[in-house]
Amino acid sequence: MMSYRIIDGKAIAQQVRDELKDEVARLKKQGIVPGLTVILVGNHPASESYVRGKMRASEEVGIRSDLIRMNEDISPQELLAEVRKLNDDPSVHGILVQLPLPRHIDANQVIATISPEKDVDGFTPVNVGNLVIGQDAFYPCTPYGIMELLKRIGISVEGKHAVVIGRSNIVGKPMSILLQRANATVTMCHSRTIDLPSYTKQADILIAAVGRAELITSEYVKPGAVVIDVGINRREDGKLVGDVLFAEVAPHCSAITPVPGGVGPMTIAMLLKNTVKSAKMHHRSASSN
Ligand code: NDP
Repeated sequence: MMSYRIIDGKAIAQQVRDELKDEVARLKKQGIVPGLTVILVGNHPASESYVRGKMRASEEVGIRSDLIRMNEDISPQELLAEVRKLNDDPSVHGILVQLPLPRHIDANQVIATISPEKDVDGFTPVNVGNLVIGQDAFYPCTPYGIMELLKRIGISVEGKHAVVIGRSNIVGKPMSILLQRANATVTMCHSRTIDLPSYTKQADILIAAVGRAELITSEYVKPGAVVIDVGINRREDGKLVGDVLFAEVAPHCSAITPVPGGVGPMTIAMLLKNTVKSAKMHHRSASSN
């Protein structure tokens, strides 16, 4: 058994939000009010709760947040028209279309319609491309939040072996790129990986973004590893748990994020950070015109 650190994502996210609050107050003195607009299609309960959390957090730091609600049966054209209207609205700096969208709407087309300059989720092809080629971009909030978490607790990834389980566009793939950009050696695992523990056991830094409750037991983890648990899963008994069996794995680690209170709060904090960044960029480009 090792002594391990529980990484307090909630407290670190609060630090980020406090810094943003000060920054927004300074921007407001210059007449700049960062604005985030969220589009919510339908009334999926989890989406409702995520959106509420994002809007509450925005307002707390002084970001103006607006919610556009659309019916589940809206046509793709109506949704695209709304996105284009927001692209043209100078008071809107961040546009977020809450996923998932109803099946009859092509989410990729909707995302690609968001102006890359207002894409605070970092999902548009332009931002993904810039991330990959090492240019400045809006980075997707969850992996960006994980990098910030590691940085703020003084864990360098340079030269380390990072293993990422999961290759989704919103978490696993951008996570692997950010880790590479920070000079980690990265291994990607997914549902077709044969003998998953043989890879995960080599990880100095293990990132689980799978969506399978408590899949990762101590047999998957090298003693002394840093374990980042992205998963949010509802267990059969109703308890919210991660992808990692926390009580068993924690004593094998040097540091580990809990669920809840680990990665989740950082995701929201980075959305706010991206929105403030966007407001500053728009202001700079408006004043240079
Ligand atoms: P996806 O379902 O899009 O992707 C899951 C990935 O895990 C896929 O790449 C899949 O492989 C892989 N996978 C599934 N089963 C296994 C397995 N048994 N062994 C190895 N790999 C497997 O999920 P997301 O990336 O969107 O989310 C992952 C988790 O993170 C979810 O629990 C989600 O709720 C949570 N999440 C949390 C956030 C936060 O802020 N904390 C933000 C976003 C997500 P394949 O590609 O082969 O199908």
